[in-house]
Amino acid sequence: MSTLLVTHSSFLQHDTGEWHPERADRIRSIERALSHPSFQDLLTVEAPLATPEQIVRCHPRAYFDFLETHQPKTELVPLDDGDTMLSPGSWEAALRSAGAAVYAVDEVMLKRATNAFCLARPPGHHAEIAKAMGFCLFNNAAVAAFHAKAAHGAERVAVVDFDVHHGNGTQAIFWNHADMFYASTHQMPLFPGTGGITERGETENICNAPLRAGDGSDEFREAFESVVLPSLRRFAPDLVIISAGFDAHRSDPLGNLNLTEADYAWVTRKLVDVARERCGGRVVSVLEGGYDLNALGQSAATHVKILLESF
Ligand SMILES: [Zn+2]
Repeated sequence: MSTLLVTHSSFLQHDTGEWHPERADRIRSIERALSHPSFQDLLTVEAPLATPEQIVRCHPRAYFDFLETHQPKTELVPLDDGDTMLSPGSWEAALRSAGAAVYAVDEVMLKRATNAFCLARPPGHHAEIAKAMGFCLFNNAAVAAFHAKAAHGAERVAVVDFDVHHGNGTQAIFWNHADMFYASTHQMPLFPGTGGITERGETENICNAPLRAGDGSDEFREAFESVVLPSLRRFAPDLVIISAGFDAHRSDPLGNLNLTEADYAWVTRKLVDVARERCGGRVVSVLEGGYDLNALGQSAATHVKILLESF
């Protein structure tokens, strides 16, 4: 059993423009951090394309077709107010970013890997049911969760999200699915504006633990210990998916939380522990945000190190 690193060169071809924080260098900085000899046991595999059938479990076919037909030949096309961009390489990257998560679910559910990290972009947790938003095209974590149910008979799937931003898209997609659970720590108020503690889902299957600007390690760990982890244990998932955004790091330019690499090690260990107790250690982690290149590389490497050491 091993830890998979699911990635693809097409993730470098999703061009968001020169000024954009969600850029290909994010992938390169994590690759650089993972090139250290201590990661030699990571098994790197190429992300396949997600199929339309896998995507339309979460998004309407019309939305899939809209993105496919709007892929530009040469230029960059803004989808919302300029946050979310389409370039000639974006369609393949979006399909492989969702495909990475689907492939990771296959390998982990079939016990060919213990856990997996999807080093992929574009990210996914802001992608709504039928709307691209916040750098996200398809909701990779949600597509993976519904794939675990449809293809592997998982009865209950949890997505835990520690990105500094709330995963409005994942929450919306899961809202009235009692067999899906979404928990999030995030800075509030901050983009996208959702994530209050009163947003709980149709069947109390949503768990939001907002943090305030300036909060750091203590508040983050307390939110996990007292809110997220007990709810996750109660839900008793068959698979834990992590929406792993590293923009709550104290160096990140897009948020005002003060986490460090040690906090990412801590939270990864806690989530692996719950997965061990409840579902044989099955964890699939997908990259979301993280915009300080150095902090992102070190934080993601710390996260992957814990996944590697967990079996
Ligand atoms: Zn974020």
